[in-house]
Amino acid sequence: MKHLLTLDRDELRRWLVEHEQAEFRARQIERWVYQGRAVSFDDMSDLPATLRAALKDEFQIWTTQVAAVHKAPDGTRKLVLQLADGGRIECVLLRDRDNARRTVCISTQVGCAMGCVFCASGLDGVQRNLTRGEILEQMLLLARLLPADERISHIVVMGMGEPLANLNELLPALERASHSQGLGVGVRRITISTVGLPAAIRRLAKLDARFHLAVSLHAPNDELRNRLVPINRKTGLEAVLSAADHYFEVSSRRLTFEYVLLADVNDQPEHARQLAALLRGRAALLNVIPYNPVAGLPYRTPSPAAQGRFREILEQAGVNVQFRERKGSDISAACGQLRRQMSESGPAGAAPGGSGPADTDPRSAGPDAVSQSS
Ligand code: SAH
Repeated sequence: MKHLLTLDRDELRRWLVEHEQAEFRARQIERWVYQGRAVSFDDMSDLPATLRAALKDEFQIWTTQVAAVHKAPDGTRKLVLQLADGGRIECVLLRDRDNARRTVCISTQVGCAMGCVFCASGLDGVQRNLTRGEILEQMLLLARLLPADERISHIVVMGMGEPLANLNELLPALERASHSQGLGVGVRRITISTVGLPAAIRRLAKLDARFHLAVSLHAPNDELRNRLVPINRKTGLEAVLSAADHYFEVSSRRLTFEYVLLADVNDQPEHARQLAALLRGRAALLNVIPYNPVAGLPYRTPSPAAQGRFREILEQAGVNVQFRERKGSDISAACGQLRRQMSESGPAGAAPGGSGPADTDPRSAGPDAVSQSS
């Protein structure tokens, strides 16, 4: 069976023509999938029965199983998805009532090859890239958790994996997501977070689509970054920053740098001062993420006092700094955490603070699935 979501717009039209169907059916099918929340071809009530049957013979819309749904009191929902080959990934829906943002956070790989020492996603290396269909499927499943009158407003590619190591699949998925006949999330509301792969950042800079780029820095010098972000031994900080500058120049989109704050590792006043020097003259936002502890790893979240001290040095140096709120941290919403807990204890033992294993596949849950708990 082929995965319907891997077909691009032309491929679906070609398939229809080959099956002696009118091309406009493609538009109907897309509307059902991307806007109509169809679960199966049977839901596509304006298609002829013969076409529905032909589609069913050749395609599946869904390839993943929802292994768990976790709900946090703040409205965050996290899905653990089991792929057809047994691999597991995670994706998250963040629903912010204050500013009416409905953000999905998606994965691009099973595991991760970058090896950042504090991160749960890469502890077992990378198994494989996700397909464009699997990337889209995450967004569609999360969209179904929203009330019927709400749409996804933002996409952040900050789940498991290194997005720039899978651009060939990610870009077609984002093209669908941003298309008005897809999910309609404009490229300006799509953020790609990268460990900082200079060649791939330059490839992104050549595209017409001006995604928002976030670069994970985590250290203000090569010596420390080599230790925390091992891929830095190959790239070096200098090349990462100059590729990021280039992206800023051609896209004129303000960059974001991410900095995971680890107690006694990269949170000292000297680190803040070096970081301020590094960012001086760059029109960038510094997003500081207090560490979300991962079981089995020795890293800790800095105390509020240490966080405050770090922040103050940067602010006084004129850096535009923001501390990220830890939404959903009680459902292990940091990348790779939940998958790991599940593989250690089995699905039944998962979800500290969550609602336990899924009783609600978003494909069957009612439209108010998100709002029921809060
Ligand atoms: N591979 C991409 C996406 C990773 S997830 C990248 O490196 O940017 C997005 C951010 O969360 C990255 O900055 C990542 O380093 C950070 N992160 C990973 N594990 C974390 C944890 N346990 N606590 C806080 N942030 C974490």
